[in-house]
Amino acid sequence: MRKITRILEVPFDALTMKEAVQKGLELMRSEKPCMVCTPNPEIVMEAQTDKELMNILRESDMVIPDGIGVVLASKYSDIQLKERVAGFDFTQNLFSEVAKSGETIYFFGGAPKVAEVAAKRMMERYKGLRIVGVQDGYFDAEKEKHILEDIKSKSPDILLVGLGAPKQEKWMYHHLEELGIGLAIGVGGSFDVMAGKVKRAPKLFQKLGLEWFYRLVTQPTRWRRMMQLPVFAWTVWKSRKWR
Ligand code: UDP
Repeated sequence: MRKITRILEVPFDALTMKEAVQKGLELMRSEKPCMVCTPNPEIVMEAQTDKELMNILRESDMVIPDGIGVVLASKYSDIQLKERVAGFDFTQNLFSEVAKSGETIYFFGGAPKVAEVAAKRMMERYKGLRIVGVQDGYFDAEKEKHILEDIKSKSPDILLVGLGAPKQEKWMYHHLEELGIGLAIGVGGSFDVMAGKVKRAPKLFQKLGLEWFYRLVTQPTRWRRMMQLPVFAWTVWKSRKWR
């Protein structure tokens, strides 16, 4: 039985990083194709008006809190989120596990060449990691057909989809059954970080829950999206239950 806490109606799994990785491996090895989403407060806000996105998040097999804001918001719920389970760290921990057990991975998303560089770097970092295919995330209908065929022919155990939210969630949801993937994960801009194109915040910022601030300063073009953070905080505060 899943232990879920709802943040503005989005159901998050209350798991530690270790538990989430374990559950990710179980989902990957189960019969049914499964998908994992990693929403941050911006995506929770987007789901308030995008009903298709909300429905996909509700139907996902695991939903992990990518942002510290989501973890803080859970303190108004009966079940609290244990810690931030950042999508990037989650995939790194999965890599470390499947590098030992031999399951295969496919990288789909990012600008041309980014997923390729990311795959090369990850295979250097995790000895034994088997990345069996890469495709960039810019496609028309014709190229999409080719991408789908390529993924089917490689039949990976894990498909990472980095098209940005909510495009990646919708893409995974629509193609999951057809592809029959063990586990599909929406990873946002993670390929950019794996390829060394974008830097994660220093560990201290991450520890203090200030990664969002580091991103705002280093990628100021995100300010419009980040305006959703105070809106999220205010919406959570307004809808809180007194206990
Ligand atoms: N992207 C893509 N195809 C698109 C739009 C975006 O592959 O049509 C990629 C883009 O290159 C970037 C990622 O999606 O690597 C989005 O990154 P961002 O940091 O905005 O994602 P977030 O994690 O914030 O959702």
